Amino acid sequence: MRFLPFLSHALLRRPTGGVRAMASFTAAPANPAEAATVVENLAAVKGRIAAAAAGGAPTLIAVSKLKPLELIAAAHGAGQVDFGENYVQELVEKAASPDVPADLRWHFIGRVQSNKVRALCGVRGLAAVHTVSSAKLVTKFDACWPELREAGAGPLRCFVQVNTSGEEAKGGVAPADAPALAAKVAAAANLDLAGLMCIGKYSAAEGDAAPDFLALSAARDAVAAALGVGTETLALSMGMSHDFETALAHGASHVRVGSTIFGARPPKP
Ligand SMILES: *Cc1c(COP(=O)(O)O)cnc(C)c1O
Repeated sequence: MRFLPFLSHALLRRPTGGVRAMASFTAAPANPAEAATVVENLAAVKGRIAAAAAGGAPTLIAVSKLKPLELIAAAHGAGQVDFGENYVQELVEKAASPDVPADLRWHFIGRVQSNKVRALCGVRGLAAVHTVSSAKLVTKFDACWPELREAGAGPLRCFVQVNTSGEEAKGGVAPADAPALAAKVAAAANLDLAGLMCIGKYSAAEGDAAPDFLALSAARDAVAAALGVGTETLALSMGMSHDFETALAHGASHVRVGSTIFGARPPKP
């Protein structure tokens, strides 16, 4: 597989084998041992999901931000089709590679700035945006999607991000504002309301994100009531490496797991 410019420049490889990024959107070139580890990690995460799933078949989104296409290809070769990315420019560059398999589904899970909506809508294989957090973004996605989507693509699936922990550093609307924003997505001609998304409060202590997951589930009840639809029609995107089992116990339909599959990431750009 070919290296993209952002994947190959300016790397510092330490004697331990660890890799540090020297520029934004720089990812470590993968070696065969790393690819094999990803395949093993993926199988282990799938096993843990199967054991923790309270029912249904949750979707595993393998979060590949700052990781090279080689490792995405390794996971895809082991049957993984849903991948999550956080940075628009990185996703645009990765998705443009002719090496990306046609059935690969990209989930955008990062903060969206309205001046990046057009670029995002042009991404081949964009399956969903999990971080819709304002009426302005809804209007912009609704306008750009029909113009830029691939031929034959349906409405863009959107999750409304809810800031369940009230932390200032996190995006998303307050739980009380979720029904109004969800209604706006549902009413948009070119968008589909997929459900709600949150990022749990990070803590090494197991179970600490449970209040966030309970709050997202309650927000879903409120949205379902406001829209007059069944709760089962609305997905819950919640749970990351450190808390996906807790999220599944609280009804997550989509879990977003990165470092447990792909290994530690270089620092954020
Ligand atoms: C990075 C990220 C993830 C994955 O995080 P890990 O802890 O590496 O599993 C999940 N969701 C969002 C929104 C992220 O930014």
